[in-house]
Amino acid sequence: MKNIILGAGASGLFLASLLDDSLVIEHNNEIGKKIKISGGGKCNITNKFVNPSNYKGDHDFIKRALQNFNNQDLLKWLKKNNLKVQELKPNQYFFSSSKVLLNFFKKKVKNVLLNTEILDVEENKVITNKGEFKAKNIIVSTGGISFKSLGASGIGYEIAKKMGHNIISLKPALVGFTVQKEEFWFKKLSGISVFSEVYVENKKFRDNVLFSHRGITGPAILNASLWWARGKIKVDFLAGRKVDKFLKNKERIISTQLPLPKRFVKEFLKVIGVDDKKVKFLRKSEFEKLKKINCYEFAPAGTFGFEKAEVTKGGVDTNEIDEFMRSKFNKNIFFIGEVLNVTGELGGYNFQWAFTSAFNAFRFLSR
Ligand SMILES: Cc1cc2nc3c(=O)[nH]c(=O)nc-3n(C[C@H](O)[C@H](O)[C@H](O)COP(=O)(O)OP(=O)(O)OC[C@H]3O[C@@H](n4cnc5c(N)ncnc54)[C@H](O)[C@@H]3O)c2cc1C
Repeated sequence: MKNIILGAGASGLFLASLLDDSLVIEHNNEIGKKIKISGGGKCNITNKFVNPSNYKGDHDFIKRALQNFNNQDLLKWLKKNNLKVQELKPNQYFFSSSKVLLNFFKKKVKNVLLNTEILDVEENKVITNKGEFKAKNIIVSTGGISFKSLGASGIGYEIAKKMGHNIISLKPALVGFTVQKEEFWFKKLSGISVFSEVYVENKKFRDNVLFSHRGITGPAILNASLWWARGKIKVDFLAGRKVDKFLKNKERIISTQLPLPKRFVKEFLKVIGVDDKKVKFLRKSEFEKLKKINCYEFAPAGTFGFEKAEVTKGGVDTNEIDEFMRSKFNKNIFFIGEVLNVTGELGGYNFQWAFTSAFNAFRFLSR
């Protein structure tokens, strides 16, 4: 066998669909389990705008990889294979169902060994619970450790470590935040969503935040979790509109005057110690306190963890990986997809990376 691909996920299946001579090994009883449920069952495959700045990782490494296979190349590949996508959310491309992509892979990738646990890699040998398999090239596409329920395991990192690779610390990302006691009021608002601007590091995300019984989540928070390491994040619950604008010279009580869910405003007022009264009775000091709605700062206690995280940030250090996604320590071993230290924001960037990295390995493997 020329190539053995470890894992029948997004990156492994794409690579296998391009190569003539490959065997895919997968421990699930079907291929692409994550693809199936991704994007709410419609798989958000890519984005109209893909830039290294949408990723956490080495931007030069990501830029070079994208130069060989970017979002336009992926869209062209989809078109060529008659796989229709639609812009269901602004700039984000989805299938009518993830099954469109899965069925394509099922047809195209025939040489797959399912129900087979990868245990180790030694030189050019893959050791599994069903025996050993030899190949010229071994491509590690076993993903991250998020969502174990879908088959995730740490085997890719173990293989890399054994070869002497550095693993950038693994953390859950695209995940909700648990909160400290000062923010326990979030939990009382479980189910309420507020269109906000969330600031973290030097990033700003304009989207919904969703209060939950565990803390806070929703797309803006999921994105923030990719960039958050420790310390505070800031939320503007009015998404850039100044609170004064809604209150100056107004008649009604605060909770009906602000364009936000009433239950949210009432809880927020309790937190800042202001009564829900007619705007004209607000004292200057109370008015000042209300401005916090534009810049509420809090330090998350942590995250909802790997089991709820859409991706794993960190991974195999790309300083030790060449332009073909090949290990600089072992020229017959390749790493593609999420196992690498490249993690995208929400919006199709992670599938784009899975395909981009696989294509860069293909450039070498197809020679
Ligand atoms: C709920 C959810 C929704 C998502 N939605 C989107 C989205 O809409 N758009 C987007 O861009 N990204 C999305 N993502 C992220 C995206 O799915 C991943 O980034 C992407 O699948 C990574 O591709 P990969 O090939 O590196 O790994 P994976 O697709 O995770 O594939 C790894 C494969 O390796 C197999 N494997 C692991 N260990 C072993 C072992 N020891 N033996 C045998 N097989 C093994 C796994 O079973 C799996 O099939 C979502 C993730 C989740 C969890």
